[in-house]
Amino acid sequence: MSEKKELTSEIRAATGVNVNRCYQCGKCSAGCALNESMDYPPSVVMRMLQTNSAESFDKTLRSQSIWLCASCQCCIARCPMQIDIPRLMDYLRARALEKKTVNRNSKKIVAFHRAFLDSVKYTGRLYEVGLVVGYKARTLSLLQDLSVAPRMLMKGKLPLIPERVKGRKLVKKFFQP
Ligand code: SF4
Ligand code: SF4
Repeated sequence: MSEKKELTSEIRAATGVNVNRCYQCGKCSAGCALNESMDYPPSVVMRMLQTNSAESFDKTLRSQSIWLCASCQCCIARCPMQIDIPRLMDYLRARALEKKTVNRNSKKIVAFHRAFLDSVKYTGRLYEVGLVVGYKARTLSLLQDLSVAPRMLMKGKLPLIPERVKGRKLVKKFFQP
């Protein structure tokens, strides 16, 4: 099996998405709110995956686009072929983490993802203080937005004790490899 064949098959096996169904109409990029901040708009990511070259695949894994994608689902709603780009972006993020090719400008986004998921893993839901502490510890942005903390505390938006939901064990299972 050629390298070309392997890449598309691998993507399809992992995500259920056949990238070759994309016919480059551009509707996904036109509707994507993050398009202008991305290094490669979603339709270009699709094209890069379609080319099947290891080099293009590697470029997508090093892109900022995969981390800026907010999984808003606008692209799939607009796509005439109903191609699940958010699912693909998820897959590409996981591969970038695995291969240690995370875009250097996206490290804070990754830190946020990790802090958010840690909070869900241990409490079964988002624990805001845990998220903030986890994010700040990872990015060393200790003073950022510190001035809003007292107001948020007073309004009960930052509960000091985490709420623990029922079924935490089940939630933890989602995180098992
Ligand atoms: S909208 Fe769908 S078919 Fe059109 S470029 Fe985007 S992914 Fe491809
Ligand atoms: S899911 Fe991602 S790629 Fe698709 S429109 Fe939203 S931000 Fe853009």
